[in-house]
Amino acid sequence: MIYLDHLLKATQGSLHQQSKHTHFQAFNHDTRQLTPDELFVAVRGERGNGHDYLLDAVRKGAAGLLIEGLVFQQLSEQTRSTLAQEDIEIILVEDTRLALQHYASAILKIWHPTVIAVTGSVGKTSTKEAIASVLAHQFNTFRSWQNYNDMLGIPLSLGRLEARHEYAVLELGCDHPGEIAALCRMLQPTIGVLTNISPAHLQYFSSLEHLAFELSTLLTSLPAGGHFFYNQDDPTIRALLTQYTRDTIPAVTCHPFLPTIPKGLTSRKMVTAVNWQGIQGSIALEDTHEQHADAKATDKREHDFVKLSSQLLGEHHFDTMLAAYQIGLNRGIYPAHVEQALTELKPLAGRLNPLPGVRQSMLLDDSHNATPASMSAGLQTLNSLAATDSQRIAILGDMLHLGEYEEEAHRSIGRQVVEQVDYLITRGEWAALIAEEAQLAGMPLERIIMTSTHEDAAQAARRLLDALPATNASTTTDKSTSTAVILIKGSEETRMERVTELLMARPWEASELLVRQTPGWKKTFFMHAERPTWVEIDLNAIGSNTRHIASLVGPQTRVLVALKADAYGHGALKVARTVLQNGASMLGVATVSEALPLRDAHINAPILVFGYVPRWQMREALRLGVSVTIYSKEEAQALSRTALALNKLVKVHVKVDTGMGRLGIRYEERAKILELVREAGQLPGLELEGIYTHFAQADAEDQTHVHMQLARFNEILQVLEAEGLRPPIVHAANSAATLMLPEARFDMVRPGIAIYGLEPSPNVPLPEGFRPALSFKTQVSQVKWIPAGEGISYGSTYITEKPTCIAVLPVGYADGFRRGPQNWRSVLIHGQEAPILGRVCMDQCMVDVTHIPQTRMGDEVVLIGRQGELILSAETVAERLGSFNYEVVSGILARVPRVD
Ligand SMILES: *Cc1c(COP(=O)(O)O)cnc(C)c1O
Repeated sequence: MIYLDHLLKATQGSLHQQSKHTHFQAFNHDTRQLTPDELFVAVRGERGNGHDYLLDAVRKGAAGLLIEGLVFQQLSEQTRSTLAQEDIEIILVEDTRLALQHYASAILKIWHPTVIAVTGSVGKTSTKEAIASVLAHQFNTFRSWQNYNDMLGIPLSLGRLEARHEYAVLELGCDHPGEIAALCRMLQPTIGVLTNISPAHLQYFSSLEHLAFELSTLLTSLPAGGHFFYNQDDPTIRALLTQYTRDTIPAVTCHPFLPTIPKGLTSRKMVTAVNWQGIQGSIALEDTHEQHADAKATDKREHDFVKLSSQLLGEHHFDTMLAAYQIGLNRGIYPAHVEQALTELKPLAGRLNPLPGVRQSMLLDDSHNATPASMSAGLQTLNSLAATDSQRIAILGDMLHLGEYEEEAHRSIGRQVVEQVDYLITRGEWAALIAEEAQLAGMPLERIIMTSTHEDAAQAARRLLDALPATNASTTTDKSTSTAVILIKGSEETRMERVTELLMARPWEASELLVRQTPGWKKTFFMHAERPTWVEIDLNAIGSNTRHIASLVGPQTRVLVALKADAYGHGALKVARTVLQNGASMLGVATVSEALPLRDAHINAPILVFGYVPRWQMREALRLGVSVTIYSKEEAQALSRTALALNKLVKVHVKVDTGMGRLGIRYEERAKILELVREAGQLPGLELEGIYTHFAQADAEDQTHVHMQLARFNEILQVLEAEGLRPPIVHAANSAATLMLPEARFDMVRPGIAIYGLEPSPNVPLPEGFRPALSFKTQVSQVKWIPAGEGISYGSTYITEKPTCIAVLPVGYADGFRRGPQNWRSVLIHGQEAPILGRVCMDQCMVDVTHIPQTRMGDEVVLIGRQGELILSAETVAERLGSFNYEVVSGILARVPRVD
């Protein structure tokens, strides 16, 4: 509850507009989640400015607005008069973020609950919830929401603090130096809790030691008379505490999570049971004096001192419980009441939360976030919960923000999974390192699946479940007899909860049971490209286009996907993983060098090199195990010699030129073709895998030429068949032929452009259901007015006729955003066309936004793709450039980052 007078006093804000409200239910800074009677706070963030949503907030029932004065003055006359007619309070402050911080400080002083601050690398939220649940047994207790844990989130959540609250349990996040100290200055905690220290959010800390120092500022920030609770089992914390003396922390009492024990005794911490009901643990006492005398006698003397249980899953949560237990006792709650409160603790969403999965599996949804420590804990829990005869499956995404630890962190998880899981599914390129290391550590390849999308990861798990023997048709999902237990985990940004949702037995419960289900979160995607000009690839579109092709040609026909030129500019590695999960069984590249990154990433599917392989690259071709295109006897012999030297086998495809006039033996030279096919079958080290041709006009309206080529190819095939020499894989069809000419599909088709959702030509539109996968985007870097009569860009080829508002964009011809002979002509901003003015420069260009007055620095600009109702397709751009869609997408240069 926020009282207007408290707020005005704390923030020194001015009440610009007064209505009837004296208080508000809570703060809100995201109109997508706003409920009536809340106070909307306009905050500037990395992805947008709350001041752009004032009218939206009012429409949704906000009772008041907290706005920055300067911005308010700049609002349009129309917006201001609309606001003036509303029954709302408008409070103006200089800086809304600072105002929230001042409010947080002030309200904690006014209502003075005892503030308990919880921090650490992992387990903060669970520990905060456990402490608050224990205290709530006896006291009015406030807890910060979910993981609102920074300088913005904590004040926002304190909007719900009330006068009755005796305790405020707050989670303190820490992703940059100085944050904990600043939070402590604002919140003035008297009790601090440190859960553990391990690599997490390290990108802004030079090392783990720096992070440890940062977290320890919680201790040094406590006032005299304060209490500090810490996990004594964490070696980094122990080492840290030895550095502090009575002088540095004069009168803070430090308590380990372990209970204090009677003199002369030592204690032993034990987790006694971990099962689907939760965990149980105890602290057993042993008498040290007589320990040496007789080991057996000592054992007898041992008895339980504290016994705790909760419904949380995972051995590491015993520490969570101990922390809450200790603080409960410290605050004067009866032990029996504390124990009772703990037994009622349930897993939080996304934190080792058990959910029934499809095909009688059990999901262990741990998707809220991931660090190396929490991933280890997750794997351990998976391992201890799975019954002996149920399969352990881990679906792991990337762990981010680990700074220099990034690679080793993933590899070390890879070494752990070997012992702890039966099947490993990874999603994303960092996570692929887990798979790579698991394989190196001896995990069989057929138990490892690497994917790039949520859909493919979930689909891979479904396939595994399908292959498992069915259980005795028990309809109830009894956790202990489930066929498989599936751990799902990854960093926040990897959104692994989408995989969980796809595997839930009751997916309609997702919005209640999973993390990040609010409308804001559903839309937010996190992956920042490394520069403000980027290509977005919709891998789900590529997966779905591949499935369309595969179902079109049927199960008898294989699908090879053409991945040359970095998958037509889409990013070969991720496209490769995606198409292979969705029905393709072979990949095609132009050169041996294009196969290298695929093999390096452990893509073991067959790869055919379409182009010329010079003799000096034959060894490399053999090393990579790619199939080679041959069209000369001499080269076939050279390849055979190389194969012999390396003691390897190389697969070859004979290329026939039936009318393309490109690579291949001319169809007229039948004897030569026959000879080469025969040689390829006989030369040592060579395996004849296929024969193929390529069409010149499969995409033309007039199909005469393609029919002619097909007839010639069929003639050759007849001759080979007569001689008993037909190779196992005969292929001819590119995308256009695959779609238009079923009789050209033979044993395998070779689509490229259709996989990317682009039409082969205006004569060959894609059937219903195909979607383009690529968008090309940038952001406005400056907006300004240019007077009439001024030149814009090199050569001043464009002179303004009237005062013109321009936006400068950080994209130029060195990104593939062509300057000449013709350029893009226009781009999309705020769902409207903005024409290019003057010449396109190497890294920048200018567009006219006079007619789009809301344009601001940072706004998204679409160069290819959809914005609002408008679509700027690769085909439209191609027409403007005097080119065609293939060249447009593959012409976006390598320095433009690809994100998905
Ligand atoms: C590029 C290529 C393909 C794919 O062609 P699309 O028109 O993109 O479907 C097939 N085969 C060969 C030999 C190619 O070079």
